[in-house]
Amino acid sequence: MRVAQGGTQVFCPYCSAVKVCQAVPTTELGKPSGQRWRREDHKDIQWFRRGRRCVACRKQFITAEVDEGFLGELVELRNALANIKANAEEYVKESTAASAALDRLTKSLSVLRALNVYEEADFWSFRLLAELGLSVRAVNCLESEGIILVGDLCKRTADELLEVGETVLHEVREKLAKVGLRLWEE
Ligand SMILES: [Zn+2]
Repeated sequence: MRVAQGGTQVFCPYCSAVKVCQAVPTTELGKPSGQRWRREDHKDIQWFRRGRRCVACRKQFITAEVDEGFLGELVELRNALANIKANAEEYVKESTAASAALDRLTKSLSVLRALNVYEEADFWSFRLLAELGLSVRAVNCLESEGIILVGDLCKRTADELLEVGETVLHEVREKLAKVGLRLWEE
């Protein structure tokens, strides 16, 4: 195979410096001859592979010509990592703050959950008795006592409902309990 003569100024990883490097076929470095490559896991990362031989140290290595946008991203990541290393202590503090914030958020969520329970109760207070699944007989008995809404029912104590009889009272307690409600003072 023909080896390109002359060379280009390239960073040699062995000399750790920019050196004149000749282009060599990648097959000489034990790599497939194809020059265009693309990662399967990151399809936006594609490059043009070249074999290089450093004129100074004679070592061979592979370079890849990549999309400049990708290089920008790489530099950004490298700087970000350097920044994290340099400010590790700050980051620990920040993460403590973040953990405290998370703690507060959890508490807020508990409050929201409690509110939700409250809203659930509120939802039932404006529903008709029949919606609780009470029998027609029970509904009629309660309505004759001036109880129309579930909310009205929950404001009564068992003593105030003696008129409806034990059977209806039992049914009322059962149906209320099913939706997490109960009579007053129970
Ligand atoms: Zn070198």
